[in-house]
Amino acid sequence: MTIHVHSYATHSATSELVPFVFERRDPRPSDVAIDILYCGICHSDIHSARNEWGWTQYPFVPGHEIIGRVCAVGNEVSKYKVGDLVGVGCLVDSCGHCDSCNDGLEQYCNNGFTGTYGGEDKIGGTPHRLTFGGYSEKITVDEHFVLRIPDNLDPAAAAPLLCAGITTYSPLKHWNVDAGQKVGIIGLGGLGHMGVKFAHAMGAYVVMITTSPEKGADAQKLGANEVLLSKDAQMMAAAHNSFDFLLNTIPVGHDVDPYMALLKRDGTMVIVGAVESLTQVSGIPLIFRRRSLAGSLIGGLPETQEMLDFCGEHNITCDIEMIAMKDVNHAYDRTVKSDVKYRFVIDMASLKS
Ligand code: NAP
Ligand code: ZN
Repeated sequence: MTIHVHSYATHSATSELVPFVFERRDPRPSDVAIDILYCGICHSDIHSARNEWGWTQYPFVPGHEIIGRVCAVGNEVSKYKVGDLVGVGCLVDSCGHCDSCNDGLEQYCNNGFTGTYGGEDKIGGTPHRLTFGGYSEKITVDEHFVLRIPDNLDPAAAAPLLCAGITTYSPLKHWNVDAGQKVGIIGLGGLGHMGVKFAHAMGAYVVMITTSPEKGADAQKLGANEVLLSKDAQMMAAAHNSFDFLLNTIPVGHDVDPYMALLKRDGTMVIVGAVESLTQVSGIPLIFRRRSLAGSLIGGLPETQEMLDFCGEHNITCDIEMIAMKDVNHAYDRTVKSDVKYRFVIDMASLKS
């Protein structure tokens, strides 16, 4: 038995997203079936739809910032019941027994996690062998990969927490960002605006590092104490050797050295944006001030729940622009131009109508 669902998919790197019908598996004993209410548009959806990383298989249904209501559960499901408000992020499966999975770091599964979209479906139950994401009416997911959404959060504005939220929260926690530290968030987009909110909530002195002077006032409303314009050589030089930590969300390869120079001795810059080659990475700024350059991938399931609960306690959600499903291609073009405040979210009711 399978469930037919409507969605939007793309069929090649150069074609637009168009309506597409496919089948989801009926819930197995440990599965939760979810009616999708909202899905955020992550820049990774666009990189993948357009095959910019070279690994996309078609048809391709994007979407890994999913909020919905449980509509059915398998008979072994213990954490969720019909009607619960839940979320699904970037992962829907992993091996469950390697050291990363045992540590609750399923995103680093030694045997390869299954992405919510474009992954190899190891569970099956449908004619296709790919996973299809959240630009769709329904999704069926093992309960281990389902998250609980705090009641006080607006469901639409909570959707991007499932990727943009955890991708910024996780490195801030892992590198122990704390009160009294000077933290720079590079790039004010979907990830960056959440990085500013989280670093501010953790008590850090937050600097928004941006290529867009017009975003300065917004950055301060989001919680930044200062704005640093990365194209202004004088401002950049004046900020050398002053940061404890930098979170870099730039979505393309770029020269790393100008940002490394901003770090103090022993400071760390974490790359989350550029899933591609970085240019100009000199050993000099690393060696002479013992600085570190690191990377980080989304977050595991326990930490994603921790982040959602943190958002519930601190009343943190995302700043969104809601769109109808049919406007998704236009939203992609605007995101690529950095013209979104600060995350598009698709109202999935517009797909049903
Ligand atoms: P986004 O909304 O497009 O934001 C990216 C921001 O980076 C832009 O708003 C812009 O901010 C800045 N920017 C864009 N092009 C730039 C350039 N050429 N040089 C310098 N700055 C530039 O994207 P997003 O959804 O936040 O995603 C950011 C990246 O993270 C994407 O590549 C995405 O695939 C990746 N990602 C990684 C993970 C992970 O687990 N590591 C998870 C999710 C997404 P300003 O206007 O302020 O400069
Ligand atoms: Zn994402």
